[in-house]
Amino acid sequence: MMANRAVEKTVSALQGRGDISGTAGPLMARLPKVRGRLAEYASLARLSWFRTGGPAEILFEPADEDDLVCFLRGLPGDVPLTVIGVGSNLLVRDGGVDGVVIRLGRAFAGIRARGDMVKAGAGAMDVHVARAAADAGVAGLEFLIGVPGTIGGAIAMNAGAYGHEVADVVQHVRAVDRWGHVQDMTPADLKFSYRRSVVDDRLILLCACLKGMAGQSADIRARMADISAQRSDSQPIGTRTGGSTFKNPASETGGGQKAWELIDRAGCRGLAVGDAQVSEKHCNFLINRGRASADDIERLGEMVRARVRDETGVMLDWEIRRIGKPGVSHESGEAQG
Ligand SMILES: Cc1cc2nc3c(=O)[nH]c(=O)nc-3n(C[C@H](O)[C@H](O)[C@H](O)COP(=O)(O)OP(=O)(O)OC[C@H]3O[C@@H](n4cnc5c(N)ncnc54)[C@H](O)[C@@H]3O)c2cc1C
Repeated sequence: MMANRAVEKTVSALQGRGDISGTAGPLMARLPKVRGRLAEYASLARLSWFRTGGPAEILFEPADEDDLVCFLRGLPGDVPLTVIGVGSNLLVRDGGVDGVVIRLGRAFAGIRARGDMVKAGAGAMDVHVARAAADAGVAGLEFLIGVPGTIGGAIAMNAGAYGHEVADVVQHVRAVDRWGHVQDMTPADLKFSYRRSVVDDRLILLCACLKGMAGQSADIRARMADISAQRSDSQPIGTRTGGSTFKNPASETGGGQKAWELIDRAGCRGLAVGDAQVSEKHCNFLINRGRASADDIERLGEMVRARVRDETGVMLDWEIRRIGKPGVSHESGEAQG
């Protein structure tokens, strides 16, 4: 916990000086001029659902698509690049993220429905897209009400819930690559599979066209209300979490059991490392009870994987994306429970 606090202290000291955009730090001085916001040593803890982890060396929030494209064209090739959405599936390690972290803000959050299609910016929240689709009588996107991220994150992760996934509804997307080339992509280009796509940090999604079907707004809203109710009954909504921690294993390896069932069988429900805990409500969710470091959360996850492997022979794969570098070791952390 010491190291985590030290990192946060440095970050708040830097932020305490006000907007640090334009500070001539070593990396900052090598970056192209932008109209958007560049911030040095910007806290990512406040941008991730776990509310923990280290800073971004540089955080870039582009003013619009042109600003982003110009920035990428001028970005030196050796600078690491990371893209984030709203951090609902991310664990940012305590040592922070080197290079530039890009986050798409309001300029990328537009939503427009026409016929049976919804066009949404990659920064639009899934829940807003689901509601806009309902208002326009576009059925088939209801499942997005249960995914608390952005459309960019949903496509990158092939997010899904209640028997539907993003791959079922994506018609095409616009993206820009690491070198500033804008391109249109089809679902075939995106190579969707279970909670995966071809999208990595060399590709930034800009917007997507999602295809639904004609429906009655009232019916669509009723299905969304059902999904929301089921979620609040079964998931620790409103806590600091990254959603499902591990992917459900393929039926050949997991014997048809879901990740949460294997975790429960291995006796991990409620297991804790410092302030990181396996949720009592849904044991495929790890939660930050308050002051957990990213290291506490990652070690807890690895402990769960080891116990599940020893008990069931199944090695779970992380679904949560872990980014950045580890921080220095800290005090907290004996396993409890
Ligand atoms: C309470 C809770 C419930 C959840 N329930 C579900 C669920 O039912 N189903 C489900 O699938 N997920 C669920 N999740 C996980 C998460 O919401 C999804 O994975 C979501 O799609 C992540 O979107 P994000 O914007 O938060 O992306 P982030 O978590 O910020 O990033 C996730 C990945 O997407 C990439 N990414 C984000 N934006 C872009 C972009 N514009 N271009 C390129 N890459 C990008 C990032 O690089 C990263 O690799 C849940 C999470 C929580 C906290």
